Amino acid sequence: MTPVESFRSKSVAVFGLGGSGLSTARALIAGGANVSAWDDSDSSRRAAAQEHIPLVDLSTASWRDFAALVLSPGVPLTHPKPHWIVEKANAAQVPIIGDIELFCLERQRIAPQAPFVAITGTNGKSTTTALIAHLLKASGRDVALGGNIGTAVLDLPPPSDTRVHVLEISSFQIDLAPSLAPPIGVLTNITPDHLDRHGTMAHYASVKERLVASAQTAIIGVDDPWCRAIADRCKARHQNTIQIALETMPDTGVGLEGTSLLWMCGEDRRIVADLKAIPTLRGRHNAQNAAAAIAAVSQLGLTDDEIRAGLLTFPGLPHRLEMVGHVGRVLAINDSKATNADATEKALLSFEGGLFWIVGGRAKEGGIALLKALFPRVEKAYLIGESALSFAEMLDGHMPYDRSETLDVAVERALRDAQISSHQEPVVLLSPACASYDQFKNFEMRGDAFRQLISAAPGFVAMKKG
Ligand code: ADP
Repeated sequence: MTPVESFRSKSVAVFGLGGSGLSTARALIAGGANVSAWDDSDSSRRAAAQEHIPLVDLSTASWRDFAALVLSPGVPLTHPKPHWIVEKANAAQVPIIGDIELFCLERQRIAPQAPFVAITGTNGKSTTTALIAHLLKASGRDVALGGNIGTAVLDLPPPSDTRVHVLEISSFQIDLAPSLAPPIGVLTNITPDHLDRHGTMAHYASVKERLVASAQTAIIGVDDPWCRAIADRCKARHQNTIQIALETMPDTGVGLEGTSLLWMCGEDRRIVADLKAIPTLRGRHNAQNAAAAIAAVSQLGLTDDEIRAGLLTFPGLPHRLEMVGHVGRVLAINDSKATNADATEKALLSFEGGLFWIVGGRAKEGGIALLKALFPRVEKAYLIGESALSFAEMLDGHMPYDRSETLDVAVERALRDAQISSHQEPVVLLSPACASYDQFKNFEMRGDAFRQLISAAPGFVAMKKG
């Protein structure tokens, strides 16, 4: 844990008692603050009470003495409208911050030179964060990995000069961290997302920009126009700016040629890695993530040899093009995290053909229309969930499909068909392009169910990790 001592003997309100809220309350208490915690939900309050975290009804409490309100990033700050707790704090002129801000204050206080990489972006945050942490660990560094992925930041060990904090940071967390100024800031890309919580695209992009604008070194994926403009502004301010570019060759940064990632800086032009040999980083989108990770760890002093060795042992993340294993010649891939067509597009683009595609669930707006150009890569589709009928209409005339309805039936039929395919390495791919809530609690449970069904198939051989 990182005890928060910046608020010793002060009163602090904590609202939102999920994982990160409880961790915040514990860290503040350990650092000597007087915590008043609250949540709209009864069960969250009970969880806090079990840990003896002091509960105070913040809707009726006096706000005069609070030095800050620490808000969970899931609570609406501005859009669609401010939560009542935000209005209370604003009316009492109490600053509203989040756990990342507490981490930044502690780092400043106890180890201002502590290495710290902050990663944000619309897509690829978790993969890039996990890969940076993996490369550092593989080369023997002490790494604390967390934030918006896995462990809440204040549950991690404290910052120190010999420990690298690698933190995934969502835009909601940036909004709540005015002192965020990481030595290395990574922005993978910006495309429309969460606009319900951010209002306009311009506002969403400006929040993301803050993470790299405040960094000593800004690593920015410049293939989209929003990020390109942000990188231009960083360069204009003479900030150390490293570009990640797949579409063009960057003047300073990492680019892609074939399957090779190249470091480019004036005359210095060298191949750092060849992604062909790394199946856990399949697909162009992962080339962007890998390039960003390589740029970040290079800044922390890793050699090309260390990077190449670390890439080879990257196990990948669960539910994101995760290689489950083989059933005979058939490769099974769990991409359950693909809850919309954009994400499934990345999966379909990652394979040349021979796909037996399990798709469906609770459809998002537009369904799978976006994927039409990629339909020729699919040999057959297996439709599950409540979207089965509407997706069948979209697939009619483009590819054979099976109205499997449930995942177990889909897996059984897809494996059966794939085993007699003429393709060299047929792939059974779960990439649903839909939310899971019609049949599963969440995408993780859907992916776990797929993994179990595949591993129960006769002749299954699990993929070796790392
Ligand atoms: P995040 O943490 O930002 O949600 P993840 O690394 O968990 O990102 O990847 C989630 C999904 O987003 C992947 O399954 C893939 O479909 C897509 N994705 C990953 N990286 C990228 C990228 N660099 N560009 C576009 N899409 C990506």
